[in-house]
Amino acid sequence: LTTFTDEAKIALDTLADRTSALVSPSLRLGVTGLSRAGKTVFITALVHNLIHGGRLPLFEAQKSGRIARAYLEQQPDDAVPRFQYEEHLKALIDDRIWPESTRAISELRLTIEFESASMWNRMFSGGKLSVDIVDYPGEWLLDLPLLGKSYSEFSRDSFELAQLASHRDVATDWLQEAAGAEADGPADEMLAQKLAKSFTAYLKAGKADERALSTLPPGRFLMPGDLDGSPALTFAPLPGLSDGKHRPGTLAAMMERRYEAYKTHVVKPFFREHIARLDRQIVLVDAMQAMNAGAAAVADLERALTEILSCFRPGSTNFLTGLVQRRISRILVAATKADHLHHESHDRLQAIVRRLVDRAVSRADFSGASVDVLAMAAVRTTREATVTQGREVLPVIVGTPLKGETINDETFDGKTETAIFPGDLPAKPDSIFEVPDRPTDDPAIRFVRFRPPKLERTAEGITLSLPHIRLDRALQFLIGDRLA
Ligand code: GDP
Repeated sequence: LTTFTDEAKIALDTLADRTSALVSPSLRLGVTGLSRAGKTVFITALVHNLIHGGRLPLFEAQKSGRIARAYLEQQPDDAVPRFQYEEHLKALIDDRIWPESTRAISELRLTIEFESASMWNRMFSGGKLSVDIVDYPGEWLLDLPLLGKSYSEFSRDSFELAQLASHRDVATDWLQEAAGAEADGPADEMLAQKLAKSFTAYLKAGKADERALSTLPPGRFLMPGDLDGSPALTFAPLPGLSDGKHRPGTLAAMMERRYEAYKTHVVKPFFREHIARLDRQIVLVDAMQAMNAGAAAVADLERALTEILSCFRPGSTNFLTGLVQRRISRILVAATKADHLHHESHDRLQAIVRRLVDRAVSRADFSGASVDVLAMAAVRTTREATVTQGREVLPVIVGTPLKGETINDETFDGKTETAIFPGDLPAKPDSIFEVPDRPTDDPAIRFVRFRPPKLERTAEGITLSLPHIRLDRALQFLIGDRLA
């Protein structure tokens, strides 16, 4: 990977970024997480709260009244799609439906004018910071380790993972088809397409809700963006490959070429143009969904986190190290959707994420950035109450379940408020690694999707900003120091 051109391009990009940062201070904030982790909702809520002066008591600059205003500006990268903030906000606020999720990379520039507490900042930045928010699928990140692997190694690793107890049954069809393919046989387009299709079906099956396995590479097989159907996405692992070059004209040689094209045209540019330029990063995880599925899904989430963290601050032996010039200095791993729990469980959720992250950091080839964890809800859809049952007083959450959601045989109409006893998280974080496979009728947390909240209006008719849980803490950690 470390060819002269790659390094030179990254150096040039970094220089260009630094030069423009001298003229106007900016910060690139990456927002990632596996699909449906809550990226779109997080960005929309964050921007809305900043622009509309939301309730953010733990965000110091806001609390002390030093933010003059925040507004959207044109983003610096013309070739990257813009994050459709207005559309997403309309869905959330006007229609009270969830916006469309992240499918590819997008960007939004939010500029904050503030009164700096420090003399130095007052002189040099003029009290203005542009935050370039870069939203991208976590699935794409999991591709970066491929840069250090040959096609034969990728094939061997894929077969090994498919043999894991948690993956084996969804992999059966693909494994059977792959076993019948001859790596030394002639290159055959139809066969390549067939194998790529059943390999993709296997990767997708692992992502189905009830399994909640985290993604295996190649990430674009699940989130193709605009590359759907291209040869660079039409390959699959083959069994029994030896190291070294494959004979030209064989199926193995054809697959290898496409695998290399995938690395060159998809993975490398993504790393170079986007990941290598980030300053801060938030990784959203749906820990509750994994816990509900059982220990195999939790182990998978931990594996995904390990790989993701190694991409951001590669350690000394990591092949990505030479490529990163600008280093991510702060990483926040946040469990989203904490509004599905009573607040008594928020600290437990945070402790669980801390445990997951500690384990991931100890395994990752990672060199110190400041990593923090958080349990939060970018949009709070519930309020808390208690229900008395006999002599017991039970904590419940109250919200409007989405139309069609069911619990205890009751199906909701999307209009009626309902109280739900969400269940407790384990007090000992390590116990989440132990429950083998949770039966679907006995989940850790009773999970119903709620509608986004109805926003209150003030007497003057002004709509208040979106309610949240600890979004201000996330903001303080990610950008607070740059507004000092
Ligand atoms: P993305 O794929 O990472 O962009 O995920 P989204 O942001 O689209 O979120 C996926 C789904 O998770 C949404 O449609 C919501 O149902 C749910 N969700 C995300 N964030 C929150 C949150 O803060 N609270 C609640 N209750 N649900 C959320």
